[in-house]
Amino acid sequence: MKNFNYKNASNTKEATKLFSNKAAFLAGGMTLLPAIKLRLAAYSDLVNIKKIKSLSGIKVSNKSVKIGSTTTHATVALSKEIKKTIPSLATLAEGIGDPQVRNRGTIGGSIANNDPAADYPSACLALNATIHTSKRKISADKFFKGMFETDLKKGELIEVIEFEVPEKASYAKFPNPASRYAIVGVYVAQLKKEVRVAVTGVESCVFRCKKLEEALSNNFSTSAIDNINISSKGFNSDIHASADYRAHIIKVMAKKAVSTC
Ligand SMILES: Cc1cc2nc3c(=O)[nH]c(=O)nc-3n(C[C@H](O)[C@H](O)[C@H](O)COP(=O)(O)OP(=O)(O)OC[C@H]3O[C@@H](n4cnc5c(N)ncnc54)[C@H](O)[C@@H]3O)c2cc1C
Repeated sequence: MKNFNYKNASNTKEATKLFSNKAAFLAGGMTLLPAIKLRLAAYSDLVNIKKIKSLSGIKVSNKSVKIGSTTTHATVALSKEIKKTIPSLATLAEGIGDPQVRNRGTIGGSIANNDPAADYPSACLALNATIHTSKRKISADKFFKGMFETDLKKGELIEVIEFEVPEKASYAKFPNPASRYAIVGVYVAQLKKEVRVAVTGVESCVFRCKKLEEALSNNFSTSAIDNINISSKGFNSDIHASADYRAHIIKVMAKKAVSTC
């Protein structure tokens, strides 16, 4: 069904109030609108959240970077403050899709959608992010549940994504040449207390790679990755790459990320 009521929210309270049982929040529309057009999804109401000023923008401190949920990928890619504090996050945003997608798509829409090949979920996991919603704060470790599935409840609005500022971090992506979605993406972060490594594009949901984390915690260098055996069990296998190939590329991307930290 392509018929729906279109509603504009001017603040977060209004957005959650306007949300009915069969509604969806509309951010950049880069996923939502094609899904409706292709009849993969149907809603009674779309609640546009792009006009809510408090949801957009970037705040940087020594410890964290807070990004409003409707901040576009282009804004993150071009942000001088992010380039200074977490340059790998700006690089990640710069590598999403094409200029049209980057100018419309938002960080909140990306993580709410939780596409198995999306880039931002890996940054959230590796940078120990906290997702601030209209109801609570959720750690990234608990947020990403499965394919296109998150811990968000109906009508729960993502307001801010807060990233820990790492000592060093880098994201390396082996992109699908058409869409730029990750065939394999590896985000490596050396945080104050731990090393975190998140992998996207490889399973039905982004995940942390414990083997890489352990190896890099002992020795943060590309050579630490050489002897790791990454099993391809459960990995995606499709026209773009077999499961074994993806397992191989994880190591290649992890080395690339470590060497560019
Ligand atoms: C051609 C193309 C190429 C792309 N390439 C890449 C790529 O290389 N890498 C990548 O990571 N992504 C890629 N994307 C995805 C894109 O970057 C968007 O991030 C993504 O489509 C969703 O963001 P959006 O703001 O458009 O959300 P929308 O489409 O508006 O919404 C998506 C979902 O999130 C929900 N939602 C949105 N905002 C919120 C919120 N604040 N709180 C709660 N729920 C919310 C909506 O209700 C909907 O269910 C691509 C998309 C296209 C069309």
